[in-house]
Amino acid sequence: MTQNVDTRPQPLSAGMIYCHGCGKPIHESARSCPNCGAVARGAKSGRSKWSAAILAFFLGGFGVHRFYLGQPIVGLIYLLFCWTLVPALIAFFEFIYFLVISEEKFRPAVQPLTTATDRQEAAGTGLGSLSVDNR
Ligand SMILES: [Zn+2]
Repeated sequence: MTQNVDTRPQPLSAGMIYCHGCGKPIHESARSCPNCGAVARGAKSGRSKWSAAILAFFLGGFGVHRFYLGQPIVGLIYLLFCWTLVPALIAFFEFIYFLVISEEKFRPAVQPLTTATDRQEAAGTGLGSLSVDNR
């Protein structure tokens, strides 16, 4: 007989967090829970504000941190205007911003502003407003 069901509360060892889905201890670096598949909220993997800050500091003038944050359009604008040194200046302030904001504030900020569906709807709205006769 195999004992694959263990309902006893397990002591939390170092580097472990409780899964918010099933309550079982999982490693803090785990992207998702191996027990129930819930995506870990406090996962340290993925985009980090520290990586973004380092990229903004060293390569911010080329918009590399924007590409890293999943904003390639903004990144391209930085790249196009990198010779003006203005993106480098903006990136320096962003570097400070990344350092001072909390991880909780950083995470929603790096989400793409709109989904593909939203973009299509926005484009549709834009076309609609263009066709409006303003006379
Ligand atoms: Zn779980």
